[in-house]
Amino acid sequence: MRTLISLFVCCMAAGAAQANDPPAAAHGAPAKAEAPKGELAKAAEAAKAGAAKPDAKADAKADSGKAGPVVVKQTAAAQLAAQRAKEGESEAELSAKIEVRLAAMRANQASRAAAAAKARKTAELQRQREQANAVAMASVAAATPAAPVFAHSNTWSYDGETGPANWGKINPGWTKCGAGNRQSPIDLRDGMKVDLEQIAFDYRSSGFNVIDNGHTIQVGVGLGNYITVQNRTYELQQFHFHRPSEEKINGRGTEMVVHLVHKDGEGNIAVVAVLLERGAANGMIQTVWNNLPLEKNQAVTPVVALDVNDILPKKRDYFTFMGSLTQPPCTEGVLWLVMKQPMPASPAQMALFSRLYPLNARPVQPGGGRVVKESN
Ligand SMILES: [Zn+2]
Repeated sequence: MRTLISLFVCCMAAGAAQANDPPAAAHGAPAKAEAPKGELAKAAEAAKAGAAKPDAKADAKADSGKAGPVVVKQTAAAQLAAQRAKEGESEAELSAKIEVRLAAMRANQASRAAAAAKARKTAELQRQREQANAVAMASVAAATPAAPVFAHSNTWSYDGETGPANWGKINPGWTKCGAGNRQSPIDLRDGMKVDLEQIAFDYRSSGFNVIDNGHTIQVGVGLGNYITVQNRTYELQQFHFHRPSEEKINGRGTEMVVHLVHKDGEGNIAVVAVLLERGAANGMIQTVWNNLPLEKNQAVTPVVALDVNDILPKKRDYFTFMGSLTQPPCTEGVLWLVMKQPMPASPAQMALFSRLYPLNARPVQPGGGRVVKESN
């Protein structure tokens, strides 16, 4: 009996110690139930009472046994048997209670372990998620170039993010603008002075249209205007203006330039550049200005004609080299013919253009060891 009580007290102490243990994880471990002291105390009292106080039946037997020694002996034996039976009953009862308590403690332990395991699993999942996010962010960062990214745009300009430095990145078809090695314009210096053949200009009075395309004023010219150079004939398609001039001669540019764009039967391009300086008014430029459109991208087709000869200088010396279009897509393989003698345009004519396009010139590009020839 004492052994059982000691065992019971041990269980109580262990249970209390476990209940007072700090939870295994910060979250999720359920609060432990208080040891059922009231119930256990009653059980202990009942056990004491069973040991100290004989029951009524045993008392009656003992009283009746006082009649003789045998009876007394029998009564004493019966009392002892009853006492043992009673003790056995109490022990069984206490054992059952201890079993119940142990089972409750085991259940508590199991639930606490499960809660701790769940908390550990949650923490691990969170850690894995964070790691996965970090890896994903790192791979996104690695795949994203630091330069501005354009999604296949056709928008370009002469300054800012869509300016000349980024043209090659704006559109996959414009890579030459950034990676080409025969780009225009260039600074014309140290040219090879040779007896260049004269360019045969075959221009005539023609119908035309004028369009403000958002990058320049462009004049479309009627059929029948040609140049012939290096045994190849090119037909004039259009001419347009830049301010300041894109070309430089020994590092010096002019206030404006006209580019006359020609194409031969195979699609080869030849551009004649005529530099414009301040001076007398130019009749052909005035005809164009007189017919400037009111809206961008809406062509004006005047009833008057235009004679493109009026924009050509008297002296026909020129520089020549292979280059590119000076705007996207910066196509290479373009034959450039830059007239050495500038043509005059009046300050008022220059000022009018600068109100529309104060700056629409690509910066000079690397020469890259190109051969530049010039008229002797
Ligand atoms: Zn141009």
